Amino acid sequence: MFCSKCGAQNPDGVKFCSKCGALLSDNTVPVSNHAPRSTVYESEAKPKNVKGIIGFILGIISILLSLTMWGGLLAGIPGLILSISANKKKDHYQPSGLPKAGIVLSIIGLVIVVLYAGIVLPQIARYTSMAR
Ligand SMILES: [Zn+2]
Repeated sequence: MFCSKCGAQNPDGVKFCSKCGALLSDNTVPVSNHAPRSTVYESEAKPKNVKGIIGFILGIISILLSLTMWGGLLAGIPGLILSISANKKKDHYQPSGLPKAGIVLSIIGLVIVVLYAGIVLPQIARYTSMAR
């Protein structure tokens, strides 16, 4: 290997330059630069995917539980928030279809809750009060 300071050739495995005494550690730098980068990308991509998946599942649950009202709200609101935040942080590792589907499903679930609470329940209440 060659010394980075003076350019003198040194045998491989030697730590210090035989001519100027500089530390010969240049060939280990590119290797240590590469490894952490790929692991950082992997650890960043995983929580985003999980957010999108949870948002999507909560969207489905909010539709299934929309007629129980509270179940629809408790699943639909966090489902919508998670799906939106998963959809915002787009990168190459994030499948964009799942958060978007989660947003749509959560909105449908919340709309059913609002329609059910705003239209169906008052009519049932009016019907039962008229019957009395
Ligand atoms: Zn040297």
